[in-house]
Amino acid sequence: MFWDKKMETLKPAALKALQLKRLKKTLHAVQNVEFYRKQFESAGVSAADIKTLEDVRKLPFTKKQDLRDGYPFGFFAVPMQKIVRIHTTSGTTGKPTVVGYTRGDLDTWANLIARNMTMIGIGENDIFQNMVNYGMFTGGLGFHYGAELIGMTVIPSATGNSRRQIEMIRDFGVTAIHCTPSYAMHLSEVAEEMGETLESLKTGIFGAEPWSDTMRHTLEERLGVTAFDSYGMSELFGPGVAFECPERDGLHIWHDSFLVEIIDPKTGECLPDGERGEMVVTPLVKEAMPLVRYRTGDVTMLMEDGCLCGRGKKIARLRGRSDDMLIIRGINVFPSQIEHVLLRIPEVGNQFMVYIDRINHLDEMTVEVEINRSYFSGELAELAKIQKKVVKELHDTLELRTTVKLVEPGSLPRFEGKAKRVIDRRGDI
Ligand code: ADP
Ligand code: ZN
Repeated sequence: MFWDKKMETLKPAALKALQLKRLKKTLHAVQNVEFYRKQFESAGVSAADIKTLEDVRKLPFTKKQDLRDGYPFGFFAVPMQKIVRIHTTSGTTGKPTVVGYTRGDLDTWANLIARNMTMIGIGENDIFQNMVNYGMFTGGLGFHYGAELIGMTVIPSATGNSRRQIEMIRDFGVTAIHCTPSYAMHLSEVAEEMGETLESLKTGIFGAEPWSDTMRHTLEERLGVTAFDSYGMSELFGPGVAFECPERDGLHIWHDSFLVEIIDPKTGECLPDGERGEMVVTPLVKEAMPLVRYRTGDVTMLMEDGCLCGRGKKIARLRGRSDDMLIIRGINVFPSQIEHVLLRIPEVGNQFMVYIDRINHLDEMTVEVEINRSYFSGELAELAKIQKKVVKELHDTLELRTTVKLVEPGSLPRFEGKAKRVIDRRGDI
């Protein structure tokens, strides 16, 4: 195997030296991009001013909107002949942006995925079903090549046809799966309907969207797996950027490949370890589309305590993006908090939808959730009791009054990829 495990556990001094060397190379490479030439010039900085890692703070940020403005190929730093693949983001927050890869980028990316998978102890003895979209979404091909690199038996099942997915898990003796947590939840429902227990499954890699620890416990119980969180974004290759080790207390981000800062999203000031803010990343190993201080929009922190496994500082699990955060009557709410509350209430199911309206100038949040039949006798009085309980539990966590509607099991949408559970109908936002 050709990737270097030593890179995962470099000593601080060696790591810093490597980061600085790679940063300088990256700053040199971005000079091929008109956006950066202009941006550096108007900020009055040049690559030569960056002598230490901290000097990176002198450089301006790159925002998602800049990438949108550069659509389609404005951020490519190499000639088109060197680009061997194109992906796009999922477009969760607007027009998708384009990402290009050189041959070298694809190798680096596969290596990063390989690191993650070997870190959790899976490899050539595993049969791996990759249940995410294999098109423009980076999760499909990204995981595929990383898994092949470490010799796993890969089943590129993509999304859809959940019954068939479950038959394959059963018939092929699949030991590890990758999908979004939303899809995993759906899959567990279908498996239950089919009376399948999925005995061979051991490992679940779930990512691409926020999910709570309660969701983790539910999925582990229902699918019989140990569940690991996987974080990535297309602009930083795709999945493979950060991943949980067996400690499962925060995610390792690969410091030799990504320079991480946490900033206050309002002031742009860097925050100390242990404080939550927006993650800003300067990738150190990208060729086709190098970026400088890219504002991910994702909220996390660098954790103060190192990890027992020696792979350096971790980032905390991501609750959502700064733009996922709903402000309801002045109160900040992340959809993942709602999920966390609902999953703890056995009388309701795991699927929910959230609607936000503005009625008489006031924000109103409505949560639709499916009733769990095994806890419901059919008595109307009981329905009212369950509803009251959900309202109270949501209030206790969110400090917000919500309207709760109980609906039939199976009536809310299921998602194969990233879930879209929040519908904000306040026109002005
Ligand atoms: P888009 O930004 O259009 O959704 P991507 O498919 O590149 O396109 O998605 C990347 C985003 O997905 C990240 O910025 C982050 O918000 C979210 N994401 C990915 N993995 C996780 C995870 N494990 N936990 C929380 N959010 C995640
Ligand atoms: Zn660790």
